[in-house]
Amino acid sequence: MHRVFQDMAADDAVAILPSGHLDSNEDNMRPAQSSVHRRTGLGVVAARAALAGVLTLSACNDGGTAGGDAGSPTDRLVAALGRRDAIEATTNERITASGERFDPGESSVPGTTWLVSEFTMTATTELGADRARTELNVDAAFPRRAELAFTEVRSGGRGYVAGHDNVFAAGPTPPLAIPAARVASAEKHADLVSPLRLLRRALAEEGGIRADGLAEVDGKELEVLRITLAGRPDVRMFLDPASHLPVKSETTEDHPPIGDATVEAIYGDYRKVGALTLPHAVTLRVGGLDIHKEVRSKIELNVGTDADFYALLGDTSAAPHDHGHAVFAQRSSEWLLSFGFMGLPIFYDIQTGTPKSAELAPGVHLLTGTTHHSLLIEMSDHLVLVEAPLYEEWTAGVLEEIKRLSSKPLKRIVATHFHYDHSGGIRGIAAEGGVTVSVGKAGADFFRDVFARPHTVSPDRLEQAKVPVAIDEVESLKRLTDPARREVELHVIETEHAQGMVVVYLPAEKLLFNADLFSPGDPINEKSAGELYDAITRLKLDVERSVGAHGAGAAGPVATLAAPKEAAKR
Ligand SMILES: [Zn+2]
Ligand SMILES: [Zn+2]
Repeated sequence: MHRVFQDMAADDAVAILPSGHLDSNEDNMRPAQSSVHRRTGLGVVAARAALAGVLTLSACNDGGTAGGDAGSPTDRLVAALGRRDAIEATTNERITASGERFDPGESSVPGTTWLVSEFTMTATTELGADRARTELNVDAAFPRRAELAFTEVRSGGRGYVAGHDNVFAAGPTPPLAIPAARVASAEKHADLVSPLRLLRRALAEEGGIRADGLAEVDGKELEVLRITLAGRPDVRMFLDPASHLPVKSETTEDHPPIGDATVEAIYGDYRKVGALTLPHAVTLRVGGLDIHKEVRSKIELNVGTDADFYALLGDTSAAPHDHGHAVFAQRSSEWLLSFGFMGLPIFYDIQTGTPKSAELAPGVHLLTGTTHHSLLIEMSDHLVLVEAPLYEEWTAGVLEEIKRLSSKPLKRIVATHFHYDHSGGIRGIAAEGGVTVSVGKAGADFFRDVFARPHTVSPDRLEQAKVPVAIDEVESLKRLTDPARREVELHVIETEHAQGMVVVYLPAEKLLFNADLFSPGDPINEKSAGELYDAITRLKLDVERSVGAHGAGAAGPVATLAAPKEAAKR
């Protein structure tokens, strides 16, 4: 398995996943490219809509139950998926699938995705109750390779995981309680990828589904249904004009740092399963980029489950239901799940509170979090912060700690690179006002976009403060000179990890700060550590100590550069 870069153009060439193909470069996908308007994603939807129509016609020829034009759009949807009594009598759905997960927030080039894992899974979900059991095998490719296999069970807002779900763990663990955010994001995802589940949930809630007019998609008028479920942003479901089957469901999530993110679940390859007609291919698309492709080899309905099947094992009271974290997950579920599919379940633990600070040199503080650290540098009359990670819920505490350490105003944030987990909290800090953000040139457009985009799903501090934020593009070197206090150098270096990567060097202190290339105390990534070491050598930086945005941080030793040096020699 190789890391796969997917750019927008290649993405738009993907028509649908008609018969178990995942590879967008398959020759049989190519004809779709010419028939699709590539300016927007809507053309692809239309192509899918047309195909869904064809599939249903053949289902009709086979004696299928596609509905007529009578009644409301909801009636037409119900008739297309199956008979109402059959839909309501369905107790559960078991999906056996394989697929790929891509991520737009951790790729090398802003605006592209890359493959983070391949997976196979069997997911059994009850339709009339919040109970689910998923067996997942994840072949993780990024940020590190690992073969993971685990079982996740959810029941009544709680859940546990058993097995190996963490690329940093040595092996499987016994059943462990999972946090509320993991339960909530998995449930929302399960609904979005299954029109049957979405419909059942919508029908069960008063006013849960209603007609929402027509939407013109590539010259065709599609009926739209609006699904309103408690605690979640609305979902709009688009029906194919011929078959009345859902072409896609669309919702908006909050994905730090980009804010409002359109999430589309695009359904295809509809086939009969008993009395129902269900999609056997689902693609999730965020902001026009495919992030999840799933092909179902089998869908079973009304499977028998014994009493133990959904029983919660382990001490699930150890992870008490946290409403705030569940709310976070309801509006940012695919953001969280992307880290889950990387084998980084720690992201489901929503981080709040304040970092621990340690003064590495006079006026130079490392602010250490559970997973992500920042560096605060005091200049004579202002402060510079390197890294504003995760999300505003975390950087609110970073800001608190900064104010405790110094009364000087924060005037500059250095963003090492655009990765979502390293930049997600930047708007919350920039909302203080009067802040310039220094970024590597290749990431400048991304950050300009971050400060311009709407954040309506979760209106953040900047959405409310509406203060301007200046972007400072660093081509290769920027010196922040402050003769009274110190000099700070921002170097942009070449890395595979991310374009426009900035490392921060303090010449007088002989201190280097980097993100993701070399994290003291963490396992070495030879490629990244080697790139860092080569850059230090080329730039002739006299580094005595190195700290990372991850790793041992203030609590552990500040590393020397022996480790990347060794990596570079290999
Ligand atoms: Zn990164
Ligand atoms: Zn990182």
